[in-house]
Parts: sequence; C-alpha cells; structure tokens
Amino acid sequence: MKRDAGGEALAAVQSYVRYLQRLGVTALPVTLPPPIRAEAAVQPASTCSAVLPPQVAPTEVAPAIRLAQLAAAVHDCRKCGLHRGRTQVVFGTGDPAAALVFVGEAPGHDEDVQGEPFVGAAGQLLNRIIAAIGLAREQVYILNVIKCRPPQNRNPQPDEIAACWPILQEQLACLRPRIICALGAFAAQTLLQTEERISRLRGRFHRLGDIQVMPTYHPAFLLRNPQYKRAVWEDMQLVQRALELR
Ligand code: URA
Repeated sequence: MKRDAGGEALAAVQSYVRYLQRLGVTALPVTLPPPIRAEAAVQPASTCSAVLPPQVAPTEVAPAIRLAQLAAAVHDCRKCGLHRGRTQVVFGTGDPAAALVFVGEAPGHDEDVQGEPFVGAAGQLLNRIIAAIGLAREQVYILNVIKCRPPQNRNPQPDEIAACWPILQEQLACLRPRIICALGAFAAQTLLQTEERISRLRGRFHRLGDIQVMPTYHPAFLLRNPQYKRAVWEDMQLVQRALELR
C-alpha cells in the first residue's frame, strides 16, 4: 500500500523516536538546545589526551539530549576510512544517567547490522556479567572506542582511534559515570593512554579525571579463554562494591 506524505512523515518521526529511545532518551524538552555541529563534535585530535573536556553542557541541557544530538551529528561521520565498509555508526546505548559505563573495542558484524554495541555472542556474555553484579543492561551505558566496524574485525588503526577519540571524549563528558569498565586491552590502553598489558592493568581502579576506571578482560576473550572468568568476576566485585550494589 502506498503511503501519503503525512504517513511518511509520521513513520519518520516514529522511527526517530524509537532511535532516541534506544539511546536512552525518555522525555523530550519543549524547546530544543542548539544542535551540536558535526565539525565541532568530531574534530580529529592530533594527539590523544586522557583529560576529559569540561561538562559538554554546563547548562540545564540533559545528558540524554546532548548524547542524541551528538549521535545525530556523527551518524554520517567520514573522518576515517572505516565509513566505507560500515553499515552504520554504532554510537552506544543505555541509560545516559548510568553510574557505570562499559567501553568495548569496536563493533563486530552483529553490531554493525543492528546498530547497537555488544549484541552478538560477546554481548550475551556481557549481559550475564552485568546481571551478576545486580544490574540490567538498561541500567548501564555501553559504547565502544571505535564506532564503525573494522574490516574482518581487525584491530583499529591509530588514525581510526584518533578520529573517534573526540566522540568518545564527548560521550564520556556527557555521561559522567562514576565508574568506567574498560573491556579488554584496547579499551583500557586507549582510555588510560598506556601500553601496559591488560593482565597488569586489571584488578584495580585507575583514574580518568574524577572517573574510576576498572580494566578487565574482554568478553570475546573470555569466550575463547573461560579460565579467565574468575579474574573478571573479581574485577566486577570491586565495581559492585564501589557502587554499593551489595
Ligand atoms: N566487541 C566489542 O568490543 N564491541 C562490540 O560492540 C562487540 C564486540
């Protein structure tokens, strides 16, 4: 059946509202703040800095709205070559007011298709890890260092990391969680600006400004090496205690 112009507009609005819901927006303001300009949001950093910018909106603008604006500003990002092979930018999902944020590496095939981080096999395990500390996936925020799928799931390149770094910084500046759980060497090393091995970083909190960072093994690594699940559980218990979840 052919839709009229009104029907198409309604479908577009409904699709956008569903998209905002996936980003964690539960209410819309009557007057919108000025949009974030794509150029401002994704200026490539010449050098990576572990210092977070000040709160993106030192105003009353809700983090969820700023995140939605940022997502809209970068949805067609072409700052690096990964845009050529992606289906879509995988921005991040969850509760924008979450105390706990999980940072992974980069989208894989399933995430690229569905537009949401950690929805494949590693995501199922991450869901169980989150449940084990008494939270639901909807109560945390999940994102990746790299927003577009690298070909054949190869490791992201330095220019790709540099291109994505300002987006990650701005996301974290909006989210301002109490704790970031860095999943795997790549996320931990990028966030903490170190080349230290994950085996030496995990097991204790590090600091990123006033945010505590707990590096732990990546769920995909755990699927291949289940003997490391115990170490992850120890790390998650530290997170659980710090958040007073038990
Ligand atoms: N691995 C990641 O690091 N991120 C995803 O979103 C999926 C798998």
